[in-house]
Amino acid sequence: MNTLAQHIQNIRIIDGHEHLIPQKDRQKMNADFFDLLHYVRSDLITAGLDSAFFERDNNMSDEEKAEIFLKYWNKTKNTTYAQMLRWAVEDLYGMNDWTKEGIVALSERVRKASQDPKLYERVLKEKAGIDLAFTLIFTTKVDFELFRPVMFMDHTFKLRTLQDIKSIEKLTGTIVHEFEDYLQVLDKLIERYVKEGMAATKIGAAYWRTLHVEKPTRQDAAKVFNQLKMFHLGESLSQDEAKPLQDYLIHRIIQRSIDFKMPIQIHTGHQEPSVSSNGNIITNSKVTDLVPLLLEYEEAIFVLLHGGYPYYNEFLSIVKNFANVYADLTWCYILSPTATKQLLSQMIEMVPQNKIIGFGGDYSQVEGTYAHAKLARKVLTEVLTEKVESGELTEQEACEFANNILRNNLIELYKLELKRAPSIRGNISVSTS
Ligand SMILES: [Zn+2]
Repeated sequence: MNTLAQHIQNIRIIDGHEHLIPQKDRQKMNADFFDLLHYVRSDLITAGLDSAFFERDNNMSDEEKAEIFLKYWNKTKNTTYAQMLRWAVEDLYGMNDWTKEGIVALSERVRKASQDPKLYERVLKEKAGIDLAFTLIFTTKVDFELFRPVMFMDHTFKLRTLQDIKSIEKLTGTIVHEFEDYLQVLDKLIERYVKEGMAATKIGAAYWRTLHVEKPTRQDAAKVFNQLKMFHLGESLSQDEAKPLQDYLIHRIIQRSIDFKMPIQIHTGHQEPSVSSNGNIITNSKVTDLVPLLLEYEEAIFVLLHGGYPYYNEFLSIVKNFANVYADLTWCYILSPTATKQLLSQMIEMVPQNKIIGFGGDYSQVEGTYAHAKLARKVLTEVLTEKVESGELTEQEACEFANNILRNNLIELYKLELKRAPSIRGNISVSTS
């Protein structure tokens, strides 16, 4: 391995975005091989597998499941999602027998690992080289040794029925009659999350509406709110009718995030079917729809996720010009390593390196994160090697770039009390205090 590859291999990553469930939940669910499928599940369904296969109470034996799985695995095993599953179980569980018997035996090994209290530490810290990960699991109660919480805010502005308002009342223990009260409740909720250690807010709206946010007045929003308050018979508003209320609340969340100097992570681009329950409307996730918000809130810190894929040229154009926007490569490598190589290569040419967040695994199980981190190091090594060979960067500059996007930038952006990567002098890594 050359110096650059070795250097990238050794970087202790800070992982910008995950959905890793608490280890005690993993233990409780006694996760097996089939619980590790995660993203490849979407490819299996696209290949023709009935989604009922994934229901946990389908009463199928491991043998039955393995048999059906293999039929579709053979149609799907070319994708990067599939490759990640293969890397994970081959590296971490010594899997080498892709037969029915092999999978049944593997599933037993995964169940055993699910009971190991050291599983997360072993896989994340030792195997994946990750010191800390930001995780979005709808709670701030995470193991702060390994994680920091990011909180989804969609439930506070995805309002189309009376029930949606009642859910927030239940969550906050406050009865809300007037729109003004609702705004106070929202503010208090954000304040509570901050006190509990939230590192960023997250807007996932591109899964269920467009990213285009207008500038409704408080009266426009209050009018919609009052309509919902009278929907006692389970009526609901269309997305269009509810939009002024939702848009107003999105502005509010951004304003409060600014008050607390919280970065705002926003989903842009490709949608995951297991989250949206179908293929979804990809044009809702266009990164260019965010421009009015990015222009208005110069003082905000926007972290745009997923390279905006497939709108990644627009994504690059935006992060190049906006001082308040960070480019985040969460999920990118496993969607397509080829596209991500292209994206990264252009990003090096276009975007100041302090604005790039280089890795987020976006997995719910640590095995997936392990494989994704391995792929990210590989892709980054390939891109930077090309840049060094063509003379655009020196090897030292390439090492520094990797340090920054995999670690240092996250320490600065999220104000972490962690050591920066050792700085590079000549070909020798030097520790800084
Ligand atoms: Zn995510």
